[in-house]
Amino acid sequence: MSEVGKRILVTGGAGFLGSHLCERLLAQGHDVLCVDNYFTGRKANIAHLLGNPHFEALRHDICFPLYVEVDEIYNLACPASPIHYQFDPVQTTKTSVLGAINMLGLAKRVRAKIFQASTSEVYGDPVVHPQREDYRGNVNPIGPRACYDEGKRCAETLFFDYHRQHKLKIRVARIFNTYGPRMHPNDGRVVSNFIVQALRGEPITLYGAGTQTRAFCYVDDLVEGWLRLMAAPDDVTGPINLGNPVETTVRALAEQIIALTGSRSEIVHKPLPVDDPVQRCPDISRARDLLDWQPQVPLQLGLERTIAYFDRLLAGDGQAKSPVLSL
Ligand code: NAD
Ligand code: UDP
Repeated sequence: MSEVGKRILVTGGAGFLGSHLCERLLAQGHDVLCVDNYFTGRKANIAHLLGNPHFEALRHDICFPLYVEVDEIYNLACPASPIHYQFDPVQTTKTSVLGAINMLGLAKRVRAKIFQASTSEVYGDPVVHPQREDYRGNVNPIGPRACYDEGKRCAETLFFDYHRQHKLKIRVARIFNTYGPRMHPNDGRVVSNFIVQALRGEPITLYGAGTQTRAFCYVDDLVEGWLRLMAAPDDVTGPINLGNPVETTVRALAEQIIALTGSRSEIVHKPLPVDDPVQRCPDISRARDLLDWQPQVPLQLGLERTIAYFDRLLAGDGQAKSPVLSL
């Protein structure tokens, strides 16, 4: 699918998604430079790659300029979970906006092709369902999610202006909820929260009635979509939705995780966070048509793999192990 031996920069490469991307790029025969400030990323995510002579890790904050020579850039750096991006909202907007300016400036100088990890959050709390790329969204510009949503929207603007003004080769993916091994156990996202709670036998924290919906994509499927998008002809700039179009309620997810772990955890209700989207599901027709891409891993299989990962992780921490999984 792609020519080998390119020099590829991955910002946010020590994070959940970035570490999987680095692995795939190395397996394709590329040289990978992982840049990360370790705000939410972990060295443990890339420890197994450090011995590879084609892999290099650099501690750097993309809010500051970076001078390296590369052929392609994947710009992933940005905290992704609501509790992490709301921890220091000004830094979140800076990372999205200043980070995009710095990485686009770098791409312009070295004439690199550049990919932006955008998000379904650009649609806000959508009133159109499922979300297509031509839907312009329903974002609250002053709410607690705005630092992330508006930062990512502005980054998209910058990508398309650099494309029009400087003829840069760009790719913009709007990523919907993705899960899998190496999610941070304390990142507050629904899949990691529910699995960790179930494995520990703690109450499962359902926000609101649990009738809000999401559509969950397994990490391997998502990374495959990114690689296809990057390898597509240059007129395929995006934005392009990448996610799993199988919608589920958050309550159904909780029940499925309880069943898969054999947990005795009970469901408890907590208040719904401000501006929490009611319904979210991607329309992936564009990705199907242009990239011949659609997710292959069903939710149950992806959850089993993710549960196995957290089970090992918690066992290593001396925490309770799952009653049904022994790995
Ligand atoms: P993550 O928090 O695990 O990874 C983000 C990485 O970026 C971390 O390693 C973090 O340390 C690094 N980082 C943050 N600020 C930085 C800065 N200023 N300079 C350098 N590094 C910085 O999150 P993730 O789930 O792997 O998400 C990766 C990207 O995908 C993000 O841009 C996110 O917005 C996007 N995304 C993810 C999802 C999802 O469901 N996981 C959904 C939509 C979009
Ligand atoms: N959620 C929940 N319990 C949790 C964590 C999250 O019910 O312990 C809900 C949350 O309110 C939201 C959905 O699960 O409706 C997905 O939340 P997440 O933070 O994973 O992602 P996002 O809201 O950004 O899609």
